Amino acid sequence: MRRASSALLCLALLLILAGCAPQARTATVFAMDTVMELTAYGDKACVDEAVSLIHALEARLSVTAADSDIARVNSSGGGEIDPETAALLKRALELCKLTGGALDVTVYPLVRAWGFTTGAYRVPGDDEIGALLEKVDYAAVRVEETAVSLPAGAMLDLGAVAKGWTGDEIAALWREAGVKSGLINLGGNVQTVGGKPDGSDWVVGIRDPFSEDVMGAVSVRDLAVVTSGGYQRYFEQDGVRWCHIIDPVTGRPADKGLASVTVIGPEGVLCDGLSTALYVMGPEAAVRLWRENAGFDLVLVTAGGEVTVTEGLEGRFTPMGAYTDKEIKVMRRG
Ligand code: AMP
Ligand code: MG
Repeated sequence: MRRASSALLCLALLLILAGCAPQARTATVFAMDTVMELTAYGDKACVDEAVSLIHALEARLSVTAADSDIARVNSSGGGEIDPETAALLKRALELCKLTGGALDVTVYPLVRAWGFTTGAYRVPGDDEIGALLEKVDYAAVRVEETAVSLPAGAMLDLGAVAKGWTGDEIAALWREAGVKSGLINLGGNVQTVGGKPDGSDWVVGIRDPFSEDVMGAVSVRDLAVVTSGGYQRYFEQDGVRWCHIIDPVTGRPADKGLASVTVIGPEGVLCDGLSTALYVMGPEAAVRLWRENAGFDLVLVTAGGEVTVTEGLEGRFTPMGAYTDKEIKVMRRG
């Protein structure tokens, strides 16, 4: 009798625990040219709202969708934009300044000339590049409240920061809804909410820029992990590989000795903007910028395959596969 009642008690406890353990809610979305995977432990409505948010942000921010805020501004040299687009543009302009113009939201005429976004890949001539470079200058963009104006011929592209911003927005939405555990995977852009449902950290893999494998993993909670690399989008012509990240100084795909840059920190949009910019800047300038600014850590993989991590990742970064036996250099601020 006693045994039966304790068995019943156990069963009841199990049922209560199963009822309390939040269920994994998932969605796969194709947006912003990326396959996105969302997982939230909680109410299904959270994932549905995140999917709607992704589509709404894409409709406003896409440089190619005809009636997005960005496309409208680009075709008419300015105009009124949604307050959220304006907030992202202002944050992006701060990041352009922070990176000395390595991130430049007006690089679009060149991105387009090289065929990225249109798919008509080509190597533009020096004269064409020179003429288009004259249109590139983030400092000439004016934003007053929700009114934007651009100099003649200038065009915006928020592609380097849009996914980071989207991850931040979804994370904020989920936290407000009481989600304690969530993983937002927007391609090379990952944003985490809390830790795993069992209380341990999320373990986020970092792609090996030279193969389909992972080169390592970082354990994180409530942080974004954003990677930019030449392997993500590129075309080849006459044996040369041209990647989608443009150096705003040369007007050509960036080639400063990095194969990939991963930025880890609480603000996804900062991590996204920096991963693109540091890829342009190269390893020494990337470490210098890290030393001078708080709020993020780095995993750098050079074109030669050397790996550097910054000190905040000590004990959090685990090399994997071909990288297990490599020397991992740790950068310190002091
Ligand atoms: P990401 O994948 O975040 O590194 O961003 C790359 C995308 O940002 C490209 O596909 C372009 O649309 C755009 N882009 C390329 N180079 C730059 C740059 N130097 N500054 C700002 N945006 C860029
Ligand atoms: Mg980026």
